[in-house]
Amino acid sequence: MSSSSTICAISTAQGGAIGIVRVSGPQAIQLTDSLFKGCRRLVDAEPYSVLFGRIIHDGEVIDEVLATIFRAPHSYTGEDSVELSCHGSSYILQRILSLLISQGCTMAQPGEFTQRAFLNGKMDLSQAEAVADLIASSNAATHRVAMNQMRGGITHRLAEMRQQLLTLTSLLELELDFSEEDVEFADRQQLQDLSRSTLDEIEKLRSSFSSGNAIKNGIHVAIIGAPNVGKSTLLNQLLQDDKAIVSDIQGTTRDLIEDTITLGGYLFRFIDTAGIRHTSDVIERLGIERSIQAAEKAHIIILLSEEGVSSPTVPIRPDQFAIHVLNKADRLTSGTENTSPHASASESTLSLVSTLDYPTSHLSLSALTGQGLDTLRQSLIDHAHLLCGELNEDTVLITNQRHLEALELASSSMRRALDGILHSLPGDLIAEDLRLVLSHLSTILGSEITTDEVLGNIFKNFCIGK
Ligand code: GDP
Repeated sequence: MSSSSTICAISTAQGGAIGIVRVSGPQAIQLTDSLFKGCRRLVDAEPYSVLFGRIIHDGEVIDEVLATIFRAPHSYTGEDSVELSCHGSSYILQRILSLLISQGCTMAQPGEFTQRAFLNGKMDLSQAEAVADLIASSNAATHRVAMNQMRGGITHRLAEMRQQLLTLTSLLELELDFSEEDVEFADRQQLQDLSRSTLDEIEKLRSSFSSGNAIKNGIHVAIIGAPNVGKSTLLNQLLQDDKAIVSDIQGTTRDLIEDTITLGGYLFRFIDTAGIRHTSDVIERLGIERSIQAAEKAHIIILLSEEGVSSPTVPIRPDQFAIHVLNKADRLTSGTENTSPHASASESTLSLVSTLDYPTSHLSLSALTGQGLDTLRQSLIDHAHLLCGELNEDTVLITNQRHLEALELASSSMRRALDGILHSLPGDLIAEDLRLVLSHLSTILGSEITTDEVLGNIFKNFCIGK
């Protein structure tokens, strides 16, 4: 992929009233100008000016357009660029694209505009990746995390760590220089403190992946319970859709059924599972095994029961949340919806599940009538807050597997460096580990040499035109 070529692509999705064709590269303004007829020529236009004109081919007017002019380096890609806003007809957009290509433009690869922005130093790799996340964001939480990252959240955090690491390296050199002069002890302490705080920072960022991942890919909620307690009915109510088959024949749901909805600005991924019971049916047993696996992976487990039916025992880890839900409240003799943590009706049916040590809540509802559903939704949102922490303008969360892997490598090199300091290993060995930490962290930003393979993997997931 040569950045000396001039590329073009349709940057808007099909079906809108307006469509945008984007052109970028050294010849962007000249090539577009050769098709454009307005009261001024594009080549004479000021940067950031918008010119009205027509795209004409062989005397035929293809469309009336607005051309926005950007001049290097003050554009998204850092190159000369033009954005042609035209009518959103896919015929018009394709005609303009073909004309640009006939004039010498090359069709852009997925993400090539952003890749050029990265190669031209307009953004680092973590910011480029955030562009794709921002385009894909579908709720407030994913939007906020992607926006923070695109605006340099990770960049700034890593810059601070880099500064700490450089101070550490220079202290190490200082200590080497003065090792003959009995100043070692004070410097060693400082080295230890600084290494520990750098390791803490790396670890903090690394551990933010569990919240970051939950925000990006959805908070997993497994609905677990005995057959016929109303798991599928509850899923359908939550999704407002007839996704799962509801039946009073036991063992109907044999495979996992999942779907997502946004609640309170968070993406939730609900998984309806096979009812857990003893069965000789091989297929049903497989389904039950999958239910148990889904529960293991879930952030939140809804343990659904009904009066007189015991819940199966499901192990709940300390990092998981359990919501005990007594279903079919419409049938309860008292008929009252109960959100108390000590709901008397639920106690008997939930006795098999250990609830003492874990964050849990109890409520009762009717999946059939929808009574009490709002309380469950609110409870899910409250748990999401707890899981994801406060999301504000400065929240930096790791959401990307590539970043996580780099942080894991940085963390183990940093641990080795700290260990070296604690065991008074030679300074040059420790310095080598610190260099590795720096190098792993810089792969996140792409500030060291980044291979075509890495770039290819990142940008192939982009849409064309971005
Ligand atoms: P699953 O096997 O746990 O998925 O249970 P289903 O969702 O298939 O429901 C089993 C039966 O219970 C069906 O006949 C549902 O209509 C019924 N059911 C589910 N929720 C409620 C409820 O809140 N109230 C009443 N009265 N019946 C319900």
